[in-house]
Amino acid sequence: MTGLLALRDLIERKRDGGHIDPANWQAFARELAAGTLPDYQVSALLMAIFFRGLDADETVALTEAMLASGKTMQLSHLAQRRVDKHSVGGVGDKVSIVLAPLVAACGVAVPMLSGRGLGHTGGTLDKLEAIPGFQTRLSLAQAAAQVERIGCVIMGQTGEIAPADRTLYSMRDATATVESIPLIASSIMSKKLAEGLNGLVLDVKTGSGAFLQTLEDDLTLTRTMIALGARHDCPVVALLTNMDSPLGVACGNANEIVESVHSLKGGGPDDLRELALRFGAEMLILGGITNDPADARTRLERALSSGKALDKFREIVAAQGGDIAICDDPALVVAAAKVREDYLSPRDGIVQRVEPRAVGKGITAMGGGRTKMADLVDPSVGFQILRKPGDRVTRGQPLATILARDAATAAAGRAALDAAFVLGDGEVQRRPLVSHRVTAAGVEALL
Ligand code: URA
Repeated sequence: MTGLLALRDLIERKRDGGHIDPANWQAFARELAAGTLPDYQVSALLMAIFFRGLDADETVALTEAMLASGKTMQLSHLAQRRVDKHSVGGVGDKVSIVLAPLVAACGVAVPMLSGRGLGHTGGTLDKLEAIPGFQTRLSLAQAAAQVERIGCVIMGQTGEIAPADRTLYSMRDATATVESIPLIASSIMSKKLAEGLNGLVLDVKTGSGAFLQTLEDDLTLTRTMIALGARHDCPVVALLTNMDSPLGVACGNANEIVESVHSLKGGGPDDLRELALRFGAEMLILGGITNDPADARTRLERALSSGKALDKFREIVAAQGGDIAICDDPALVVAAAKVREDYLSPRDGIVQRVEPRAVGKGITAMGGGRTKMADLVDPSVGFQILRKPGDRVTRGQPLATILARDAATAAAGRAALDAAFVLGDGEVQRRPLVSHRVTAAGVEALL
């Protein structure tokens, strides 16, 4: 790093709890994107950041530097405002697949940049790729043209978008340094800001299946992302949502596409519909369609019941090379698991917990998730979670259905469900689906 600190000195400074200035972050991100930095030194810096953290100015500087390492989507000439959504990651979380076409059908442009599943959580791109032919690898120019034409795209990060983050994220995965709030916030926001957004909604999962484990950490991450958005005139609205049990019924990539299509047709599970409506209302308001949450909800409900949301999904699938027959009968189009097996309740009682982590790990054990970014996923495997916390069940009643490749992986699925389902006799106090709303103005606890 000519004229700047050598990487060794940056490591030493961060190791000792010091501050790194913006010029050094810029040079670091530039060289990361160019691929000229040794992995062992970047790894050491990551571990120093993991333990020492970044202060607010450093988090801004790293975000700006990673954003500047790539290109941005040029859509400011559009009449519609651009609004996206990000989820911190859950199990059975297919909200984005319903939300993007739903909100686009109501007149907001949605350039959606999504991720892949890792660990126990699933990823929108893996789910969409369960649709035969669906392409998520688009250039920025292709993505911008699609947004201009049909108002929505759902794509993955490419080498053009925050390439420094791309390198850093894969190294964080390999060095156990993902769980750092300033690194998470700068990673997500450097990519989201590259879309040239007018607004962003954030789904911050709370509870036993969440990525972060305390309300304090959730709020710190949320406030950090709100502050980063504010510097780019991109208001961020976060809803803290319950991930004490998987969302909806379907878990696993192909299976979740089937459920998303049911939801886009106005059906599907209540929790999925409710989150799509809650986030959708925030997006319509950020998108300037209305100021009134009740009006926003009515517009969204109408788009679901009239078929407009499903039609928009059909346009997205067609534009991205997917088989649009999915929109009429998804179960005939996506890969079906070879083995389907009921998982039965071992006793009478009340479902106390359905641990999302155990369900997510079960999908990975059956071949449907990743432990490393490079792993391939089998879209056909997963679970139908038929019973939720608080449900009364009798011995021998199906609690879930296992969708597996063969008998051996079905056994791994069964073992995961043994860990996931906790039965007892006491009544269960369910937590609200949405517990807090956080904006630049502060935190609102919701009943
Ligand atoms: N998703 C990202 O893009 N980056 C993170 O650091 C975590 C989740």
